[in-house]
Amino acid sequence: MTHSLPNLPYSLSALEPHISENTLSFHHGKHHQTYVTNLNNLLQNSPLQDLSLEDVILASADKSDLVGIFNNAAQVWNHTFFWNSMKPQGGGKPTSKVGELINSTFGSYENFASEFKQIALSQFGSGWTWLVLDGEALKIIKTANADLPMVKGMKALLTCDVWEHAYYLDYQNRRADYVDIFLNHLVNWDFAEANLQA
Ligand code: MN
Repeated sequence: MTHSLPNLPYSLSALEPHISENTLSFHHGKHHQTYVTNLNNLLQNSPLQDLSLEDVILASADKSDLVGIFNNAAQVWNHTFFWNSMKPQGGGKPTSKVGELINSTFGSYENFASEFKQIALSQFGSGWTWLVLDGEALKIIKTANADLPMVKGMKALLTCDVWEHAYYLDYQNRRADYVDIFLNHLVNWDFAEANLQA
């Protein structure tokens, strides 16, 4: 099968002024597209070529001879998940089950936000910050480069891309400002809730 670049779930300018059309245009149209193109090229004549994206990721994880396939497949999945982790007029305190679980796990939304930001800032170099379910437990974790919760047996609820290409055009080196904006104005809690219930 051939993997393809999914459309964004909103327009390129929909997240302005927090994430510019310029950033989304490069991030989706160039970075995400490149992972898709590289993956399709690497899968030509590979025994993994007929698998779904998730199965390619699981089959290539922790295999040193398949690291190129893993990195590109995981980055295709991660970016699609990231676009859905944001929405226009998102952010702030969640309600519903995910809000209750955040309160019971972290004590308050404010404690959760503080820990999420701390973990996002402590990722050295490129990677991702995630809200996950690990069994029954709600956790915030970080992963390096293309790594992702599914290969650790965890269920992702939402993610924030902390590769510099996600924020450099709008925030330069200020990852802290970008993560604050992500939490206050962009998080799609409906998506996290749907993943929790799934
Ligand atoms: Mn990215």
